[in-house]
Amino acid sequence: MTTLVIKNGFVYDPLNKIDGEKMDVTVSDGKIVEKVHERGAEIIDASGMVVMPGGVDIHCHVAGAEVNTGRLLRPEDHLKDVEAKTALTRSGVGYSIPSTFTTGYRYARMGYTTIMNPSMPPLEARHTHEELDDTPMVDKASYPLLGDWWFVLEYLRDGNIKDCAAHVAWIMKATKGYAIKIVNPGGLEAWGFGRNVRSINDPVPNFGITPREIIRGLCKVNKLLNLPHTIHVHTNNLGIPGNYVTALETMKCVEDLANDGKPVIHITHCQFSAFKGSDWRTFGSGAQEIADYVNKHNHVTLDMGQIIFTDTTTMTADGPFQYGLYQLTGNKWVNHDVETETSSGIVPFRYRRKSAVNATQWSIGLELALLVEDPWRIYMTTDHPNGGPFTAYPKIITWLMSRKARDETMKRISRRAKRNSLLPSIDREYSFFEIATVTRAGQAKALGLTWKGHLGVGADADVAIYEVDPEQVDPSKKYKTVRRAFKSAAYTIKDGEIVARDDKIVKPVHGKTFWVNTDLSSTFEVAEDMKRRFREYWTVEYENYMIPEDYLHASTPISV
Ligand SMILES: [Zn+2]
Repeated sequence: MTTLVIKNGFVYDPLNKIDGEKMDVTVSDGKIVEKVHERGAEIIDASGMVVMPGGVDIHCHVAGAEVNTGRLLRPEDHLKDVEAKTALTRSGVGYSIPSTFTTGYRYARMGYTTIMNPSMPPLEARHTHEELDDTPMVDKASYPLLGDWWFVLEYLRDGNIKDCAAHVAWIMKATKGYAIKIVNPGGLEAWGFGRNVRSINDPVPNFGITPREIIRGLCKVNKLLNLPHTIHVHTNNLGIPGNYVTALETMKCVEDLANDGKPVIHITHCQFSAFKGSDWRTFGSGAQEIADYVNKHNHVTLDMGQIIFTDTTTMTADGPFQYGLYQLTGNKWVNHDVETETSSGIVPFRYRRKSAVNATQWSIGLELALLVEDPWRIYMTTDHPNGGPFTAYPKIITWLMSRKARDETMKRISRRAKRNSLLPSIDREYSFFEIATVTRAGQAKALGLTWKGHLGVGADADVAIYEVDPEQVDPSKKYKTVRRAFKSAAYTIKDGEIVARDDKIVKPVHGKTFWVNTDLSSTFEVAEDMKRRFREYWTVEYENYMIPEDYLHASTPISV
């Protein structure tokens, strides 16, 4: 194993409260260590550069049936972005939905080392893991969709939290999942009948349960199982004007379940849930109200779901939302119902600067990130590819770090959006320390990945080095220099080895797949019950539903 010394960089390691200190980082056997003998060690001269832990993405759709259907739907997306084969890497295609290998390479070139695939129908878990296994360079995990799963709904309707927890523990093991994902709770079940739910108190057809009860029930299950991440929630009414009220109600409905000051709910791609107005003509930003709430309550974390002005592909498990988007755009689309579990939809979409709605969405994402005071509570995402491809992250970093960069974009957006935007009233500019928080440290902390997102002794030696000198470059003014630096890391180090350098992959590696392994001693009865139900409800046999551990290339169970 390689021994490395990263010398003289400006280190930003928020979890260890290191804020730009000029120091060495030493690596041995894939871990950060106290010190090494420099003789025989590989030395990286990082003077004049920024050193951060490897990037962590809490929410990016990169693998599985949904993503792959998106690829099939959009040959034009492949045509415009082709990645050539090299001596070390495979070829690939795709701008907003790159093929698996290309996805891994592109993340690694930006200094990212861990990514989370946020929506996996349990029935399609096998396909999802096949694609994740084919996504090199990064560690990964996937969240099974459980908020509309028939059996979860039944247990929660009967108030049977304990059996529901046993059931969820089983599904995590069966699908090799990492966290409880809830998408439009109850709404997807209603969508099976061409309907939706309108608020968190609207009853779900056939189940006599409300979204509020689903969210609260799964939040309790999450706590009972002591899962590393909180429930990961895509709110009801996502993408609909006026939905910031629903987002606030969703956060409030688990307020009393937070007992030790730790977060119990993550609201994902919050931008899409922070809309004001009663229709698209009165559409506006609810970012202030959401930020006010988050600033006063510590049981919530968010990620941005920032949009980028570009042509992308939207894909969510939220069937009714995607249907609405199809009606708005008239684009080609796919809508799909996954047996008893969930639904999904895919619609290509172009966000336009001159569209008042899209430009306001752009503003809302940034307003959220700038108005939420604590960077540990909001993380940088685009909900890739929903708000835009993850390759746009460097652009978002500059909008966060530079008022000037925001103003430049503002000049070119819809006049109505400009008039209503809160951005001109916000002076805040993120520091490198805060950028390190919202792109790695905070995300790793929220995910309970205690050995990631920092450079303390014992952490995985996942490191990103960017060629920008914080003593020479003022990111507020020279934002283009910053953007260039974050676009292609000078070095990406994964498990102690240099894997990318100056925008080139120099060593392809496989990443690990994390999943939570709960104590199943109490779940035997559930399994028996499940076997019976499989015959009734699913097209797949129980035995084929379970993914054996050796099916994964580098299975890494996390025991809870
Ligand atoms: Zn998403």
